[in-house]
Amino acid sequence: MTTYTADLVFPADQAPIPNGYVTFDDSGKVSDVGSVLPKGVKAQAYKGALVAGFVNTHCHLELSHMIGRVDTGTGLLPFLKGVVSLRQVDPADIAKAIEDADKYMWEAGIQAVGDISNTADTAKVKTSSKITYFTFVEAFDFLQGGAMAKEVFAKAEATYKAQPEPKRYVPHAPYTVSPALYAMINDANPSGGTVSIHNQETPAENEFFESKSGGFIDFYRDFGFNIEHVSASAKTSLATTLPHLNPANRVLFVHNTLTTKEDMQLAQSWSDKVYWATCPNANLYIENRLPRYADFMEQGARMTIGTDSLTSNWQLCVLEEMKTIQRMQRYVDTPTLIQWATLNGAEALGLADELGSLTVGKRPGLVLLEDFDEAGRFTPSTKAKRLV
Ligand SMILES: [Zn+2]
Repeated sequence: MTTYTADLVFPADQAPIPNGYVTFDDSGKVSDVGSVLPKGVKAQAYKGALVAGFVNTHCHLELSHMIGRVDTGTGLLPFLKGVVSLRQVDPADIAKAIEDADKYMWEAGIQAVGDISNTADTAKVKTSSKITYFTFVEAFDFLQGGAMAKEVFAKAEATYKAQPEPKRYVPHAPYTVSPALYAMINDANPSGGTVSIHNQETPAENEFFESKSGGFIDFYRDFGFNIEHVSASAKTSLATTLPHLNPANRVLFVHNTLTTKEDMQLAQSWSDKVYWATCPNANLYIENRLPRYADFMEQGARMTIGTDSLTSNWQLCVLEEMKTIQRMQRYVDTPTLIQWATLNGAEALGLADELGSLTVGKRPGLVLLEDFDEAGRFTPSTKAKRLV
C-alpha cells in the first residue's frame, strides 16, 4: 500500500482536488482517493499534479524505425509519396525500434495505446508490454474494390489473427477505402468495440469528395490507380464516409484538421459513440496546421489525444502533444487537456473499466506532472514521471 500526495490530484472522473491524495495497493489498484489524508497515513509528497496514466489513442508502433526519414512541412500528399518510396528496412531494425518505442511510451506515462497495424510486426512486443494495446488492423485498397479489396482484406485477416486482443478491423481513410472493402470490414468485426479512421487531414481530401478535383487526382494517376468509377458526392469527406461506418460501434475520427462544426454535428447526430483523436505534433509535422479546438469544445466533442507515428513526429509522448495544443491555442486549459489525455481516451478505446481515471478499483497507473507556470499552464520544461 502506498499513498501519494501533491499540490493537485486530477482524478478525471471528479473535479481536481487541491492537496489531495491517492492510495494504491501493492497490485497497482487504486484503493482510496480524497482530499484529507486519513489520520496516521504516511504519504509520499510531491510538488506538481498527480494524474492517471495517459491513453494515446492513435499510434503506428510498427513505423517506429521511420523517425526522421520523411521531410516535415510538405503537406499530406508529398508526405504519403515520401513514405511509399522508402526502401526496405532490415526486420531486426524494425523490431528494435518497436521495442524501444514501447519502453519510451511506458516511461513517458502512457498506459494504453490505440495502435494501427498493417503488419504483425508489433504483436510480440504488445503481448509482453506493460502498456495495454488496442490494435486497429488497418486495410486500404486505394478505392479499387473488386479483386484488390479481396486481396488486401486477406492480408488484413492474417495480421488480425497474429495480433493480441483487443482488436478490430478498421478502414485507413475515406480516400483509400472502397465501398466493398468497408462492407468486408463491417462484416468481419464483432459487434461493439471501437473502430478508427483517419479523417480530414488535408484540404485536398474534402475537395476530392465534394468535386472530384484537387491533389488526389494526380496522386492516383501517379500511382496508376483508376478512379473513373468514383464520382463527386457534393459532400465533405466525413459526410461521404458516415454511411459506410457502423454507428453501433464507437468510432474514433483521427486528425480532423479540416473538420467543421457542421461535420461535427452531423457525426454526433449520426451516433452517440463518436470520439475525436487529435495528433497536433503530427499535424504540424505534415501540414503545418492544427484543428480549431474551440469548435470541438463548443460542440461537446469527446476529444482524445494521439501521437501518430515516428514517421510524422519527433517523439511518442502525450505530454508533448498537450504542451503543443496549449502553446498554440492557450484557451485550452490544463484540466481539459488532462481529461482528453486520460479518461476520454480510455472511454474511446473501451478501456475505462480499468484505466483513465484515479478511481477506486481501477489500475490506471500514476503519473506525476512537474513544473507548471504560476497559472497552472504547461511550460516547455513540464515533465512527466511515472510513479505507478
Ligand atoms: Zn495515423
